[in-house]
Amino acid sequence: TDLNKIRNFSIVAHIDHGKSTLADRLIQETGTVEDRDMKAQLLDSMDIERERGITIKANTVRIDYEADDGETYVLNLIDTPGHVDFAYEVSRSMRAVEGSLLVVDSSQGVEAQTLANVYHAMEADHEIVPVLNKIDLPASDCDRVAEQIEDVIGIDATGAIQVSAKTGQGIHETLEAIVKELPAPTGTLDAPLKAMLVDSWYDSYLGVIVLVRIMDGTLKKGMKVRFMSNNTLHHVDRIGVFRPEMQMIESLGPGEIGFLTASIKQVRDTRVGDTITNERNGTPVALDGFKPAQPVVFCGLFPVDSAEFEDLRDAIDKLALNDASFSFEMETSAALGFGFRCGFLGLLHLEVIRDRIEREYNIELITTAPSVIYHIYMRDGSMLELHNPADMPDLTHVDHLEEPRIKATILVPDDYLGDVLKLCQDRRGIQEDLTYAGSRAMVVYDLPLNEVVFDFYDRLKSVTKGYASFDYQMTGYRQDNLVKMSVLVNDEPVDALSTMVHRDRAEERGRAMCEKLKDLIPRHMFKIPIQAAIGGKVIARETLSAMRKDVTAKCYGGDATRKKKLLEKQKKGKKKMRQFGQVNIPQEAFISALKMD
Ligand code: GDP
Ligand code: MG
Repeated sequence: TDLNKIRNFSIVAHIDHGKSTLADRLIQETGTVEDRDMKAQLLDSMDIERERGITIKANTVRIDYEADDGETYVLNLIDTPGHVDFAYEVSRSMRAVEGSLLVVDSSQGVEAQTLANVYHAMEADHEIVPVLNKIDLPASDCDRVAEQIEDVIGIDATGAIQVSAKTGQGIHETLEAIVKELPAPTGTLDAPLKAMLVDSWYDSYLGVIVLVRIMDGTLKKGMKVRFMSNNTLHHVDRIGVFRPEMQMIESLGPGEIGFLTASIKQVRDTRVGDTITNERNGTPVALDGFKPAQPVVFCGLFPVDSAEFEDLRDAIDKLALNDASFSFEMETSAALGFGFRCGFLGLLHLEVIRDRIEREYNIELITTAPSVIYHIYMRDGSMLELHNPADMPDLTHVDHLEEPRIKATILVPDDYLGDVLKLCQDRRGIQEDLTYAGSRAMVVYDLPLNEVVFDFYDRLKSVTKGYASFDYQMTGYRQDNLVKMSVLVNDEPVDALSTMVHRDRAEERGRAMCEKLKDLIPRHMFKIPIQAAIGGKVIARETLSAMRKDVTAKCYGGDATRKKKLLEKQKKGKKKMRQFGQVNIPQEAFISALKMD
């Protein structure tokens, strides 16, 4: 295809502002899909999958559009994941296209993910076309939102296209703007192949499918290619494009976006951002800035029933095949036995994997407290990365600790600002900025990641009744006074409940945790002390008193079925508990005890 007739773009938006609906309309208006085959949210087979965690991936569609100038253009839309955990993938896929439609709900305005995503687009040097969506709604206020886009984002929004992705109004104008305002790609045909690996996922029929953007040269069926990051060679079996269903073709040239298959067995063998070139006489320079996505949040996953350890290993192995950003190694815990220490891109990623293991593989799990990676500087000058509080070395050898920090951006209606500031302050945040855009405030905080990984989202949502939006990026490491807090139940340390805390907060956290555990652990026939300690020093303590009577005694003696039911319920409850010394601790205690109210 002639480069001048290609436009590559993505759509950036806050969740629910209408990205998928707009994509559907663009596909429909151009006749890419016959009306009778049109179902709502075509590209969203992915969204559903995303909820189930199967692919948290970009998706793409190639559209032919006959513009008002009489020429036919090829429009390639790459959809990007919207969640902060996958920021790295968003920023990579942005580099595969030249422009973005910035979709803002004109009845709502700019939100935190609008900002985060538009910044990715700006970093990728995109031409940006603002689109005000949902103009059919009575609450739509295009002037106000256009002004807000100019104030907060700093791009000209006077000519923003007014659209209703629902009714189809403004869709033609959007297509014309894509052709007229977005630049055509550049690239050299007679140069060695240089293609960006934009995304990859597993397909049960075709094996691993690799989405590529050709920068220079030609990718042809049957050729041998080299993946530059790991220097592996592959034979290209198929080449194709998405319309949005797969259509096989013979080759892809500069500026084009499509896919290849090459009998690759595992997604793990492909890396987003990698450069693909010819086997021989390939491009001398790879695309810059490639780095594999790094896990930032770690936790232990243990089977509730220790007999299921091998099943868990099997489940984790399978999941890892299709998810290169998920890492794991075997872990042994004195309290929980055999399990795995797993690394994730963020909390959502953690939840997705944990859910899949429980639902698809039917293994009940104990999840230990999520932890970030601490840098421990030893007195001998060496540094180690601590992924698990249980591995904290002897303090006499430790010089100091550093923890990862983030820059968090929160947009919130005025009314809730006070609560948000308090929450951030409570989480050791340092306020960096506070500005207003209409009746919404934008606050920027420097926060320790470990204060955010646990229940920050939940808390933020609850204090703002769901009206706040939030986004963050990692900024670096900083020294602080951090200590390991251990928990002892019936005088036995429960390693899976160890956490790293700030020294100044340790007493408060310790007390809260002991109180929670006291409620979560059922009474036993004997008294159980529950303690939090730093080193050998106990900083908080609760005592769970002994059970006085048979629990069934409170059921009226005569009702046998009721009694039976209660006993059965207890039996079931027991299955979800683990024995620590003489004490049974229920599964949910490991997570609930760490939540802070
Ligand atoms: P996404 O999360 O950005 O992909 O948003 P969706 O496309 O899934 O849209 C979110 C919700 O807004 C859905 O219920 C859509 O039907 C609705 N929606 C999208 N565009 C419009 C529009 O122009 N007008 C109205 N009234 N609703 C819309
Ligand atoms: Mg969507």
